Amino acid sequence: MPYITTQAIVLHTADYRDNDRMLSLLSPEHGQLDALCRGCKKPQSPLMSAAQPFSYGEYVLYQAKGRMTVTSFELIDSFYPLRENYERLRYAACMLEVMHVQALPGEGSAKLFLLLARSLKRLCYLPLDPRAVTSAFFLMDAALSGWRPRLDACIHCGRILPAEAPVFLDVEGGGLRCRDCVNADTPALPLTGAQAAWIRDIMVNGVEKTALPPADAPFLPLLRYLEAHLDTRIHAAKGLR
Ligand SMILES: [Zn+2]
Repeated sequence: MPYITTQAIVLHTADYRDNDRMLSLLSPEHGQLDALCRGCKKPQSPLMSAAQPFSYGEYVLYQAKGRMTVTSFELIDSFYPLRENYERLRYAACMLEVMHVQALPGEGSAKLFLLLARSLKRLCYLPLDPRAVTSAFFLMDAALSGWRPRLDACIHCGRILPAEAPVFLDVEGGGLRCRDCVNADTPALPLTGAQAAWIRDIMVNGVEKTALPPADAPFLPLLRYLEAHLDTRIHAAKGLR
C-alpha cells in the first residue's frame, strides 16, 4: 500500500534542502517513522504545522522506494502554549528525546504514544509542576517498557521497606534498596521517604490522581534510572534538576 494514514507526534525535525524537512514521527500503529516533508518551510505552505516539533495530527504518508513523504496533514494539537513557557518547553523536549531514542520503526507503540500525548497535554494545559509531570513520565515509560522498578522491598536483601522510609533507587538494578544494602560502589541515588511514597502512588493512581508531589519531585533519580535502561544520556535534560 503506497499510502499510510496515521496519527503521529513530531519527535524531531532536521532541515533538508532549502524548503524541506525530515521528520521523525511517533505513530501508535507504526512506531517511529521518518518522513520527508516537502516545501514545509515556504511561507503559506499547508504543511508548515506538520513539520514542527510537538505537532500532533493525522498524517497521510506516501511510501515509495523505501522513503515516506508527507502528502497531507490535519492538526489535532500543536501544544502551542509550550512555546510560550521556556521551562515547560525544556521538560517537554526531554519527553520527545526519550521517545526519539526509544521507539523503534515498524513496531506498534500505542501505549507509549498515549503516554506521550497525555504527558504533553498535562505539561501544556494543567497547572501541575512540570518537574513532577516529567518525573512521572520517566517512571511510566520505564514501566511500560518492561523496567518497572520494584518498590515494596529492597532488591538486594528482600526486606520490606517501610512506607515513609528514606531509600535508594538502584538505577542499574530493578528498583529500591534499603540503607544497609548501599555502599560507595552501588549505582544508587537517595530518595526521601516522601519521594519514595510519591513514586509508589504514581504507579497506582497516575500523576493526575496522586496527591501533590513533594517540593522536590525525584526528576534526576528517575531520569538516571531511565537513561541506564535506555543505555544513553538524554541531552535535553542537561541543566534540569
Ligand atoms: Zn536491603
